Amino acid sequence: IDFVQMLKLPGTKEIEEAPKISEAEIKKISLQETRRSLPIFPFREDLLKAIEDHQILIIEGETGSGKTTQIPQYLYEHGFTKDGKKIGCTQPRRVAAMSVAARVAQEMNVKLGNEVGYSIRFEDCTSERTLVKYMTDGMLLREFLSEPDLSSYSVMIIDEAHERTLHTDILFGLIKDISRFRSDLKLLISSATLDAEKFSEFFDDAPVFRIPGRRFPVDIYYTKAPEADYIDACVVTVLQIHVTQSLGDILVFLTGQEEIETCLEILQERTRKLGKKIKELLVLPIYANLPSDMQAKIFEPTPPGARKCILATNIAETSLTIDNIIYVIDPGFAKQNSYNPKTGMESLVVTPISKASANQRAGRAGRVAAGKCFRLYTAWAYQNELEENAIPEIQRVNLGNVVLLLKSLGINDLVHFDYLDPPPYETLALALEQLYALGALNHRGELTKIGRRMAEFPCDPMMSKMLLASEKYKCASEACTIAAMLSVNSSVFYRPKDKVLQADTARKNFFVPGGDHLSLFNVYDQWEESGFSSQWCYENFIQHRSMKRARDVRDQLEGLMQRVEIEMTSSPTETESIRKSITAGYFYHTARLSKGGYKTVKHNQPVLVHPNSSLFEDLPRWVIYHELVFTTKEYMRQVIEIENKWLLEVAPHYYKAKDLEDSLSKKMPKEKGKSKEELGD
Ligand code: ADP
Ligand code: MG
Repeated sequence: IDFVQMLKLPGTKEIEEAPKISEAEIKKISLQETRRSLPIFPFREDLLKAIEDHQILIIEGETGSGKTTQIPQYLYEHGFTKDGKKIGCTQPRRVAAMSVAARVAQEMNVKLGNEVGYSIRFEDCTSERTLVKYMTDGMLLREFLSEPDLSSYSVMIIDEAHERTLHTDILFGLIKDISRFRSDLKLLISSATLDAEKFSEFFDDAPVFRIPGRRFPVDIYYTKAPEADYIDACVVTVLQIHVTQSLGDILVFLTGQEEIETCLEILQERTRKLGKKIKELLVLPIYANLPSDMQAKIFEPTPPGARKCILATNIAETSLTIDNIIYVIDPGFAKQNSYNPKTGMESLVVTPISKASANQRAGRAGRVAAGKCFRLYTAWAYQNELEENAIPEIQRVNLGNVVLLLKSLGINDLVHFDYLDPPPYETLALALEQLYALGALNHRGELTKIGRRMAEFPCDPMMSKMLLASEKYKCASEACTIAAMLSVNSSVFYRPKDKVLQADTARKNFFVPGGDHLSLFNVYDQWEESGFSSQWCYENFIQHRSMKRARDVRDQLEGLMQRVEIEMTSSPTETESIRKSITAGYFYHTARLSKGGYKTVKHNQPVLVHPNSSLFEDLPRWVIYHELVFTTKEYMRQVIEIENKWLLEVAPHYYKAKDLEDSLSKKMPKEKGKSKEELGD
């Protein structure tokens, strides 16, 4: 084939006659054309009519049909914001909220944060002018606290409803309730999969509006035998596709940042070695913690003759649509929060995905042309080992957060709340019990003064309690820093593969006695001393971007401390006070060293100190951990040393002296719990 002949070059005359238009103008025109080419576009008028006719509408349409980016714009163009009321659209994921808002601002030709904005935890990119607002489902939940009837909105879209996140599920109940007395509020529930009937039933048989998708056939390939190392299998498959298959981009589903980085490095190294022998392969990552300028790269068009390979978490399953994907590689796993209500232990676990997810992933390959999906598991495993659908989050996570929020909204009867699928009774009971032990609820299950203050913070109840407790221990400033660092912690330390030793040494230089929280504080403290210098970060293998984010979070926490009238006291050298504040919040996460290693105090579950911890080499008897990660075993990440008697001081309703016997010394703690005023009921 002579390719030159296929290109139709415009004649000289045409060029002369064409009006002079700027590059920006061209971009605008092509953006509008793209908008008109989306599957949803032919249904614009019908959709608007249906929204006018019904208060609640369920919208079902395949990923990429234009639901998230177009519907708010249609509503805006149709005048739904005329009276100054906003159009809201929730997203389960932060990255999606940011990226979609940026795209829509571009399509509407406005500056992000003006007419179109987004709001995610610790980051509000909206203004008085904002009329189209994307936000995480968690942020909308918090908005109920200040605006229980959502009176500033004319339309609320609960998007990606099929994801069934905990926050989305709770929103269903709240918003259904509001719709009864706010007949002027339009409610749209939008979903990418076939559970529309279930949503319809829940919302009093609301009509379902279906947007037929464009979908090309996708050939599915399975491995003959199970793969022992799926990262390696991914790398091999990417390279095989690259050398044997025609052009078209590849999308690989991995479970998290670490895996993505590993895979990225191996792929880059192999392609470098192959050099000119292969076509250009651009490997790009996308995950929640990736800085937004890097995220934007995945949407840039692939250069001619090259191939793009995107390594994504399951954010690319339905929340983000990347054009021109022809090949999908699906190892069949995702990272999931898993919670055991019997032990109260929650950890992130790599879990097999459901059949529904596997089919969504495969579907990503058939948007622009016929595609291929390579499943790195056997056909037998698909048939027999994968569940039909994922279990909704509400049935498998800790509910402490949400229970506190609902209580703050005055919803007391949580058993009879209007759930799409109810949480297990024991999970609910444990959440109540934990909030009681934290002092947020009294023995009748009513919100206490402490609880009301805790609800002001957009944090886990344990973290909120730690912040409140810092008032008593006069280290509010340090507590804010530690809370901020913990919320960005996974990405603070930079560890390039070619400088692993230097990076590890640099990290260890920050270690201080007492444990990891104090080391994190030390990092922030030194960075502040350096005048928030980026050079300092570079020299110390610290991610400057993460630090800037920590500073933002810290500023906001400080503001919230003011709101609950806590003075910004500081005792940077009183590490015992700082550790006591942490203990006051995280006393559930206590482990004791016995002969066989660490076990959690109340349930005797074996746990290990994470090898990255400063306490890894010199194990103290009593520790508190921030979180658990499960790989082959349960690892405690971010650990501090405590004294067992502090537990009686900070959590007298939860720990009794006999819980805290020290199995190594057989000594009982001397002090008995006295202070009950801590519980504040
Ligand atoms: P849906 O919500 O139905 O899955 P979207 O509205 O998210 O569909 O996507 C519609 C189109 O907009 C897709 O072709 C997608 O590639 C494009 N798009 C969405 N976000 C961005 C972005 N940040 N940059 C470029 N294109 C985007
Ligand atoms: Mg969408």
